[in-house]
Amino acid sequence: MTATDFQRTPNGAVLMDGNRLRDTRVGMLAGRLLQAGSPSICLATVLVGDDAPSRVYVSMKHRKAVEAGLVSRGLELPSEATQDEVESAVRSLARDPQVHGILVQLPLPGHLDTERILALIPAEKDVDGLTERSLGRLVRGLPGHAPCTPLGVMRLIEHYHVATQGARAVVVGRSTLVGLPQVLLLGRKGIDATVTLAHSRTSNLAEVCRSADILIAAVGQAGLITAECVKPGATVIDVGVSRSEHGLVGDVDFDAVEPVAGAITPMPGGTGPMTIACLLENTVAAAVMQGVDVPLV
Ligand code: NAP
Repeated sequence: MTATDFQRTPNGAVLMDGNRLRDTRVGMLAGRLLQAGSPSICLATVLVGDDAPSRVYVSMKHRKAVEAGLVSRGLELPSEATQDEVESAVRSLARDPQVHGILVQLPLPGHLDTERILALIPAEKDVDGLTERSLGRLVRGLPGHAPCTPLGVMRLIEHYHVATQGARAVVVGRSTLVGLPQVLLLGRKGIDATVTLAHSRTSNLAEVCRSADILIAAVGQAGLITAECVKPGATVIDVGVSRSEHGLVGDVDFDAVEPVAGAITPMPGGTGPMTIACLLENTVAAAVMQGVDVPLV
């Protein structure tokens, strides 16, 4: 697809359609697996409690995993499950040679020690890329799984031909889930953006954001990024999700920013679907690391 084929917003910005790209990539994965003789590759999820959004996210992950040709195994524990019970569930998945990728759906109920639970996932099965070993590998540039949301952002950037070499990128939000790994991915050799990390203590946030050729908002504050935060022609990627009376909304005030931006993600339908696509790609990569033969094309 060339840049001229991309769908545009009413004022001409490229609409970075995550649903469409997810479907393309899931279709490509399905094709790859079929060509490889449909090996049994299993993604296992662990869901603790009845948090409604978590349940929706997990069921969506399963649906897309099956579409890609993966085996999807869902383990559910009640919200009062003890630390020992959750740990023993994760340990048994970690030992199981039929399971290639493990995802513990976060957030876990407050009485559980998330770090201790995540630490039980072997790095090669850590398809969410959130354990200290995976993040350490990312920092050191070693083979491993990058966290799915920032990886999904990179896929959007690549697919929509956003120039990164020498570009100035600003990432708003410094969590280990999104902001920090995003900075690492954008600053990698070959991507070569010059990256600024902004957070709640950044002074003159609008001015900092306005310096960006690529602006990525991962905060969780509806409408934080207004038109005055955006350099004309910049690429604006919205990771934030907040619930409002109008449904799910992002960090970016889409209607105000779209006339200024050169490219922009919709919300919903931008970064969320790409998180799932990257989870499935990480699962296939995990299986390859564990000896399953899946050719690249
Ligand atoms: P988080 O751990 O709460 O981190 C939020 C970050 O935003 C923090 O670093 C915080 O700064 C910063 N921040 C808060 N208020 C700010 C402000 N007024 N100005 C600038 N920075 C501010 O959240 P997270 O886990 O990274 O998630 C961020 C958002 O992404 C959430 O809405 C989450 O739901 C969404 N999300 C979406 C996807 C997806 O697939 N699209 C996936 C994961 C998460 P301090 O560090 O200084 O407190």
